[in-house]
Amino acid sequence: MKNELDIASSIANEKLDVVIVDDTPDNLRFLVGILQESGYRVRPAPSGEYALTTSMKEPPALILLDIMMPDMDGYEVCKRLKADELTKDIPIIFLSALNEVFDKVKAFKVGGLDYIAKPFQVDEVLARVKTHLKIHSQQKSLALQNEELIKMNTKITEQAAKLEYLARTDFLTGLSNRRDFQELVQKEEKRFWRTKKPFSFILLDIDHFKGVNDTYGHDCGDVVLVGVSRSLEKALRGQDVVARWGGEEFICLLPETEIEGARRVAEKIRESVAGVTHKCDTYEIAVTVTLGLSDFGGDCSVEECISQADSALYIGKKEGRNQVAVSA
Ligand code: GH3
Ligand code: MG
Ligand code: MG
Repeated sequence: MKNELDIASSIANEKLDVVIVDDTPDNLRFLVGILQESGYRVRPAPSGEYALTTSMKEPPALILLDIMMPDMDGYEVCKRLKADELTKDIPIIFLSALNEVFDKVKAFKVGGLDYIAKPFQVDEVLARVKTHLKIHSQQKSLALQNEELIKMNTKITEQAAKLEYLARTDFLTGLSNRRDFQELVQKEEKRFWRTKKPFSFILLDIDHFKGVNDTYGHDCGDVVLVGVSRSLEKALRGQDVVARWGGEEFICLLPETEIEGARRVAEKIRESVAGVTHKCDTYEIAVTVTLGLSDFGGDCSVEECISQADSALYIGKKEGRNQVAVSA
């Protein structure tokens, strides 16, 4: 018996002590005796007031509560215990000589879990106490497991969001990666077929970037890549998308923008990149970019459109770099 109670106690992580409330000293003594013999820690409470004080000071595992008491009856004690956050979950079994239907219903209404009519059989009291303690500890352990599951679920959702972010992001610059960009372009193309509003691409490549690596080192090259990324983000508008397309190549998608609008944005990017110096070690590194433009009007595929921007970029490189070139 004791062993089983200990197991229940450890599951519920609480002491198996029982508060017994009865204003009749003989009843109280008798109940205290039988519960102690069965291995419970018992706190006798000779009045409702005392029961409230001791239960709020240290909430017991269960309360056996007499109904008919002077000053404060069992219903009132039960109501107050149920109204307090600290004691609201303590299982309460009413014990009373009142054996009318109304009183039993009232006992449940105020929050009692069970009702034992006096005179009672000792075995019945013990069986009900044991059963309610077991149910209570199982409920508590289920609630704990549920909390754990909710926590785990939150963690998994957060991890999934992180993985999703990583799968879409370029590690060095924090910009969208090629895959993310391609998905966004697909969406934009779908929108085009609904609205027929053309969109544009800007493909850009840092000029003589190999020289930056060779002169200042690869780490400084990385600093420049990050710095150029920030310049791009600043120069673009909210609806535009920028991604790292390859090593030192970037690509922008300008929704609902025709080639002339794209040219203005590209020129802004060119000036903005050229106007920034990147600090690395003791160096101040300046770079320029060449930009190739194309616009999508539904007369070729998206891939062909991007390769037109690439051809324009190639022309811009050939014609001296640090400039904006439009596909023929
Ligand atoms: P151009 O003006 O014709 O574009 O000349 P370039 O030197 O920029 O062109 P090239 O394609 O010869 O060199 C690109 C260099 O970019 C070579 C490569 O090592 C470097 N690169 C590519 N990815 C990274 C990177 O993640 N970090 C650094 N530091 N360098 C990179
Ligand atoms: Mg380059
Ligand atoms: Mg290149």
